[in-house]
Amino acid sequence: MAERISLQESLNKIITQRIKETPEYRKRIAKKSLEKLTRRDLEDFQLFQLRNTLHYAYDKSLFYRELFSKKGIEPSEVQSLADLAKLPLTDPKELAENPLRFVCVPLGDVTRVITFTSSGTTGPQKRIFFSEKDIEVMTDFMGAGMSVVATSDDVVQIMLPKGMVLGQSDLLAQGVKKMGATPVVTGIEPTPEEQIQAIKRHGSTVLFCETLRLNRITVEARKNHDLTKLGVKVLFLTSNYLSDSMRANLQSAWNCEVFTHYGLTEMGLGVAVECSAHNGYHFNEADLLAEIIDPETGEVLPEGEEGELVFTTLTREAMPLIRYRTHDISRLSSKPCTCGITALKRLDKVTRRLESVVRIGDGDEIYPAMFDEALYTIPDIVGYEVSVSKDGGKDKLTFQVEIARTGAAVEELVREVILKVPPVQKNVKTGKMTIPEIQLVTPGSLQKSTRAKKLIKDMRQEA
Ligand SMILES: [Zn+2]
Repeated sequence: MAERISLQESLNKIITQRIKETPEYRKRIAKKSLEKLTRRDLEDFQLFQLRNTLHYAYDKSLFYRELFSKKGIEPSEVQSLADLAKLPLTDPKELAENPLRFVCVPLGDVTRVITFTSSGTTGPQKRIFFSEKDIEVMTDFMGAGMSVVATSDDVVQIMLPKGMVLGQSDLLAQGVKKMGATPVVTGIEPTPEEQIQAIKRHGSTVLFCETLRLNRITVEARKNHDLTKLGVKVLFLTSNYLSDSMRANLQSAWNCEVFTHYGLTEMGLGVAVECSAHNGYHFNEADLLAEIIDPETGEVLPEGEEGELVFTTLTREAMPLIRYRTHDISRLSSKPCTCGITALKRLDKVTRRLESVVRIGDGDEIYPAMFDEALYTIPDIVGYEVSVSKDGGKDKLTFQVEIARTGAAVEELVREVILKVPPVQKNVKTGKMTIPEIQLVTPGSLQKSTRAKKLIKDMRQEA
């Protein structure tokens, strides 16, 4: 039976391949291939790629030429990975405003443009351009990421929107083929029952799906099926935050291992894969450099501190991005991981984005992941939405909760777990906040509003 391999091994293969294809780099280092990838090998390779990227972007992208000139800095001034901090940051807003100024290739060489809106429903649209080579790099990494959770014996059922050529499901299917497993794209149209029938028909052993969608399928399908008997070995979840409570629910419902990944369209969809120790993520360090900055000052933070994640692409052809702010809050560590990986950094679970944080009462932060942790401890909760408004000078939270059961007892149970969330508990106690209002809604009614990056609706300014 084939075995799963670590992201370090997969990236080692990718980097060794790149070294073979890059004569200038081959000349620089004595070894032709890497027996075992060390942190030093990786960083040496990253610096080489970084310097290429900076010169390339300076020559080809109107945006970066102007940005560097304005700051009076030239790419050759970056001599080490630490020197990257000398360069200015790129904000998603700048990318949204004028994407064409970032493009480094003739438009005829652009194979795929992904247009999307991030940060819930309010952010401006962004357009990201990819060349054929970029698509190749992207699917290479998807294959590498998939081999952390699956082997060539697996059938991977992809439950993402389908149909578009070079759409997300198509690219992922290519990645799955690259690592030798069999992809089956069922899309998002089928009902939970139809997805279960597809699992049986294809013998699917790995399910790739958005977290909230899979939760919905699970709650619905387990009424009629013993999900533990279907032969599914891994749930590979994407897009939404996975709370510990939902993870435990899914694990026991399917009796299988659960993995998540962290992705960002701007960075080529796939960025990081949960490690086999389920202790945060390891990410694609062959193609991306990561930093953690203070979101207020822009300063790079010491290792291990929590801050905003910033990425620089190292191999992107059509649209390289340099020190691109993700607005996602996390931590990085280079200590050896408990999963056995030594050369790759570890990225903590991303609990929130800057846009998802709302302040209540005395200025305490609340964000959706907090409520995910609390609410999904209640069995059968399918989804929820939360808004904050003013009620007689106090902040008031209103939860719309979709759950298969109804009644005053359920409502009371929901209120009870919400009241235990520390900032809610504190501000209700001090009288800065009212008791949260709970509205139970009929099954299916929140389905349409399931957003990739969930936000708390703040109605206080509108009032
Ligand atoms: Zn690990």
